[in-house]
Formats: sequence, structure tokens, C-alpha cells
Amino acid sequence: MSHEGIRFVSAEEAEKQNAQEHPLSKDATEPLKVRVDKTGGTGMEIDWRDGHKSSWTFAWLRDACPCATCHDERDKAGRKPGVPKPKPASLLPMYTAPVRPKEVSPVGRYALKFVWNDGHESGIYSWDYLRRVCICTECASSNPAPRPPA
Ligand SMILES: [Zn+2]
Ligand SMILES: [Zn+2]
Repeated sequence: MSHEGIRFVSAEEAEKQNAQEHPLSKDATEPLKVRVDKTGGTGMEIDWRDGHKSSWTFAWLRDACPCATCHDERDKAGRKPGVPKPKPASLLPMYTAPVRPKEVSPVGRYALKFVWNDGHESGIYSWDYLRRVCICTECASSNPAPRPPA
């Protein structure tokens, strides 16, 4: 039995490989305008240099956190970025505050960092990542990321 040719790649490596094989143009990953509706709590919108527009709810972005911990958790559960964790069937519905960022700050010129109201803050959302998880109808058909529940 030969195992030659079988190679195990981590999700991170696979993502890197995917990024190398399907590079996005510079204009596609450069934001012209970024609107973060922290006070209204609706979400974030980005106008890209290539004319494309993306928008996400905060809840979606929180569930798409690209940090290693969240990534692994999603990977193990087979969840795609933006898909919420299944709620435990508890006897009493627990009140959870709507997801909102407490702080949003730029990381260099390539990413945004969110400090969420649940205390989580290890996710660095690069422009490249955000463009790849765009959930507009146009991208939803070609992206692996699903659309958020209505
Ligand atoms: Zn995370
Ligand atoms: Zn799109």
C-alpha cells in the first residue's frame, strides 16, 4: 500500500493555496469607502475600487471571524463563514444582546480589527478575506460562503 500522493493540507494552507490560485485583482481588494454602522448596529458596507459593493450584518461578520479559534471551531462543525452556531436547546430562551462591534480599527492598510460586544477581539478581517466572503447575490453563486438567513 502506498500513500504517495496523499497530502493532508490544513484549512489555512488550503485557503492560502486558493488565494494563490485565484488571486483577486488589486482593485477588488482595495476599499474605496467603508461604512461601519456602529450606532445603528446594522452592519458594514464596503464600496470596492472595482465598483463592487459588499454589505454584511454584524452578526454575520461575527460568525465569520477569521481568527484561528473560530476558524477551527467552524471547521470541526462543518460550518461556513457567517453561519451561526446552532443554539443549544435550552429550557428557557436566553436573552443575548445583538452582536455589535465595540470598536473597529484599521490594521495597517490591509485589514480591520473588530472588538465585539461579547469580548472577542482576535479576528483580523483582511480586505482580501472580506471580498472573498462577499454575500451579494452575484458573489453568493460563486463564493463558497452562504447567504445569511433572512
Ligand atoms: Zn474569532
Ligand atoms: Zn459581491
